[in-house]
Amino acid sequence: MEIKIYNSLTNTIEPFKPIKPNELSIYVCGPTVYNDIHIGNARPVVFFDTVCRFFKTIGYNVKYVSNFTDIDDKIIKKAKEEGLTEKELAEKYITRYLRVCNEFNCEPAFCYPRVTEWIGDIADFIKELVQKGFAYQVGDNVYFRVRSSDKYGILSNQKLDDLEVGSRIDVESDKEDPRDFVLWKLTNDEGIKWDTEFGMGRPGWHTECCVMIDKIFGGPIDIHGGGNDLKFPHHENEIAQVYALHNHYIANYWIHNGRVDFNNQKMSKSLGNTVGAQKFLDEYNHNACRLMLVQNNYRQNVNFTYELMTPAQKDWEKMEKTYISLFRTLELANGLKEGEPIFDYKEAFLSEIANDFNTPNAITVLYQVMKDVNVLLRQKDKDYNVLNSYLKTIDMMFYVLGLKPEIKLLTEDQKKLVTEWYTARTNKDFEKADVLRQEINNQGIIL
Ligand SMILES: [Zn+2]
Repeated sequence: MEIKIYNSLTNTIEPFKPIKPNELSIYVCGPTVYNDIHIGNARPVVFFDTVCRFFKTIGYNVKYVSNFTDIDDKIIKKAKEEGLTEKELAEKYITRYLRVCNEFNCEPAFCYPRVTEWIGDIADFIKELVQKGFAYQVGDNVYFRVRSSDKYGILSNQKLDDLEVGSRIDVESDKEDPRDFVLWKLTNDEGIKWDTEFGMGRPGWHTECCVMIDKIFGGPIDIHGGGNDLKFPHHENEIAQVYALHNHYIANYWIHNGRVDFNNQKMSKSLGNTVGAQKFLDEYNHNACRLMLVQNNYRQNVNFTYELMTPAQKDWEKMEKTYISLFRTLELANGLKEGEPIFDYKEAFLSEIANDFNTPNAITVLYQVMKDVNVLLRQKDKDYNVLNSYLKTIDMMFYVLGLKPEIKLLTEDQKKLVTEWYTARTNKDFEKADVLRQEINNQGIIL
């Protein structure tokens, strides 16, 4: 299957060629853990989980890494406000973040490296940049020398000269060039800090991902992802540092997802219009939430409104009902068995995802499958082998999209109970049917 990816580095759709056959190395910049994430932050979480699930489905061995930025001035400030240490504060928000990922049914990453665990390596990386002339220490900081990189601007499509004009506004006097960015900040404040050969201080934000990718993957990776807002300066700065040191790109493919707006406005803390991811999951079924986040092309910005959730929730309920009805029909006929998805549907679905992760079109294929199932379930003479293949088809599609219906296998006694209820209904013995239905409900059996 040919996989095509829109590579933000070249701004073109390219055929995907992994570094190692059937292996995917992927890194996505994770959150700065000083507050709870909103649904805009949850979009890459769900989208890249879908990307990984797709690669696993087509037989790839996936190594997915996403970091936690647990050093930041915002963390220090917030920790003080909450009367916690920086570590305690980070721990608190990491736990809450992972709970959101889990509720979205995201599969755990290979690892979630934290900046505080990599300080030694970050300092070594910066030291090497200084030794090779790509960085310099002046005043209270170590800066990356942007002029030394002929790759600078390649990702965000900017020319160095244009950048210079843009950044003149906040010229810091000790920098050689206003475009240079901080790698290490010296400080004597009360916040968390480390003693290195540059002096007591903290790393800037842009080096951590370079170091973690180097150390965890041991070289360039296939895919580097994140929200569009990280393209410049964060990802541009990552490319410049790694190219300077290793003469190769940090990643072969860059994937950037669009934002989530709220009522046509950019979500931001200052406007007070953010929709918390946890609140979103508390209010709606997590499957409906996932569907909402992948029903548009990942590169487009999405406008979220609460009105959007009513159809998303209804769509999911309809799909779940069909799925459960199919599952129970097979279960009661002892027709649940191993099996393969229907080839044509599997191909149609996966090739939509392979086409630059076109989840909206893939969802359309899923709806078609559901439609078929509803017709088949109404037939008097059912072909259980065919129904079983449909179940495997939906299972595969649900897996890729991260959808998970709530259903448990019935015990033998429960099967008997449900069969009796079906019989009573068919025989129009409504009194008996009501009693049995009540018992089915009491046992929490979903039909
Ligand atoms: Zn990063």
